[in-house]
Amino acid sequence: MLRTHTCGALRAEHAGQTITLTGWLNRRRDHGPLIFIDLRDRYGMTQVVADKTTQPEAHAALEQARNEFVLQIQGVVRERPADSRNADLATGGIEVVATSVTVLNAAKQTPLYVSREGGEDETLRLKYRYIDLRRSRMQRNIILRHQTIKFMRDYLSARDFLEIETPMLMASTPEGARDYLVPSRIHPGEFYALPQSPQQLKQLLMVAGFDKYFQIARCMRDEDLRADRQPEFTQLDIEMSFVEQNDVLDLIEGLITELVQTLVPHKRVISAFPRLTYQEAIERYGSDKPDLRYGLELIDISELVVGSQFAVFANAIEQGGQVKGIRVPGVGSYSRKQLDELNEVARIGGAKGVAAIAVEADGVKSSIAKFFNDEQMQAIIQKLGGEPGDLLVFVADPSRAVVAASLDKLRREFAERLKLADESVLHFGWVYDFPAFEWDEEESRWNAMHHPFTSPRDEDLALMDSDAGNVRAKAYDLVCNGYEAGGGSIRIHRRDVQAKLFSLLNISPEEQQRKFGHMLEAFEYGAPPHGGIALGIDRLILLLADEDNIREVIAFPKTQRAEDLMLGSPSHVDERQLKELHLRIIEDEK
Ligand code: ASP
Repeated sequence: MLRTHTCGALRAEHAGQTITLTGWLNRRRDHGPLIFIDLRDRYGMTQVVADKTTQPEAHAALEQARNEFVLQIQGVVRERPADSRNADLATGGIEVVATSVTVLNAAKQTPLYVSREGGEDETLRLKYRYIDLRRSRMQRNIILRHQTIKFMRDYLSARDFLEIETPMLMASTPEGARDYLVPSRIHPGEFYALPQSPQQLKQLLMVAGFDKYFQIARCMRDEDLRADRQPEFTQLDIEMSFVEQNDVLDLIEGLITELVQTLVPHKRVISAFPRLTYQEAIERYGSDKPDLRYGLELIDISELVVGSQFAVFANAIEQGGQVKGIRVPGVGSYSRKQLDELNEVARIGGAKGVAAIAVEADGVKSSIAKFFNDEQMQAIIQKLGGEPGDLLVFVADPSRAVVAASLDKLRREFAERLKLADESVLHFGWVYDFPAFEWDEEESRWNAMHHPFTSPRDEDLALMDSDAGNVRAKAYDLVCNGYEAGGGSIRIHRRDVQAKLFSLLNISPEEQQRKFGHMLEAFEYGAPPHGGIALGIDRLILLLADEDNIREVIAFPKTQRAEDLMLGSPSHVDERQLKELHLRIIEDEK
């Protein structure tokens, strides 16, 4: 190799050795007869010094060198005098006295500073990603990503899981998003779909007898992008045979707990992940991905205010809705303006606004106080456990979903304002017993809430005909700090149940045969009971790395507009390529 050591390797015990380092010039300090540089590679940084009097050639070379030059330095390791040691640097006890300097490659002034982060537009970082990735924060994130994936591979391999690849050129599989399509050259007018997930294939691997499967799977979904989404993303995809729900949950809980403790020991993972039914999560937190690091739980006061003088409350309940509130300690003194801001937050969740009661030592302050007598007011305060100084915030609406969504928004808002969420804690939890189906108003038909291969709970199977909205699925989500970190289900493994479910989703027998005939058939050739899960790796690493944008933990991410600014994709292709693919571009009329 061109080097004997890396830039992070040398210590006092190497003093006196002749070594060779390679790396990038991170920074140069020209003190006339002495030039110091920091030489950087992914392992660290080492100080190199060239002395004009003893090594004029090395000195001359460093005089010409600039930031990001790629250098090979031969020299002798020397312990630094006590007063010039750098405790922040692993190599800070030594320096290398250069005897020869070879410029392996020069560098123009880079569009981004490597040693100084921040300030510039993200588009510049994405265009010059290979330079951006040299920065220590990005190196740290990408290394953590590798360690995370390796940990998963090792953990699962040690438990008899097999890593099996599945094709990228696939047929459409329904995960509820739009497909990326790939035109076929050999079959004019036909298309492959890029996998939204390997869902069907991992199930077929169970039918094939590989009872424990995993894959670090790339998934592609053509959706409008939000801050925590990418058109392609990575999942830890898992499937197991002969398991029940808790077997899958226990496996993942063990994996995640050990992973966090091993890779990010400064983070605290709450062990024994709470397991909440979907209904409980919605009731207590208003969300199926609650942040469990803080309380502010939702309390139902509907029965206390039914028929109340306050029409907003009374009407909401009369129309089948609810009145619920949260107790927020210490903000009883909120001004009119601050209370108005809460209305704005509640509106994001669909509510018209909030009602608030400030609890004081000798009574309450509230614009709705006049609608309640003392006894009623006391009952409300007691139900929420209100104490002097607290603000009780209520949302009433004919739609329970709106009450939940609005209080979820308020809960998150207060947590942020009052810094209630401990940043060093990863509070994982499980939400299970999701509804199997949700009603699609626009299309006026049922959709599978997870995906159509998810098994309904056995005791709810009979409801499929009569009351589909109340069928619970053997589906579960892993949540963490208010995010969904993964999801899965126990699957259907019987043809009759699968066909019935497809029918409920309004998929005709012909379409079932055409799109999912292989699944239905496979279930007739000895399909074991099975289930699995997929964890979003990008988002998990985001949590581990304390980043808040998913692009910071992906080497080559796309923008919000699904472009790769470095490669310039998507891009136009030659007429010849289109022709081969039997495609013609229809120009947009505008
Ligand atoms: N395929 C599912 C998903 O991508 C996960 C699963 O059910 O295992 O969300």
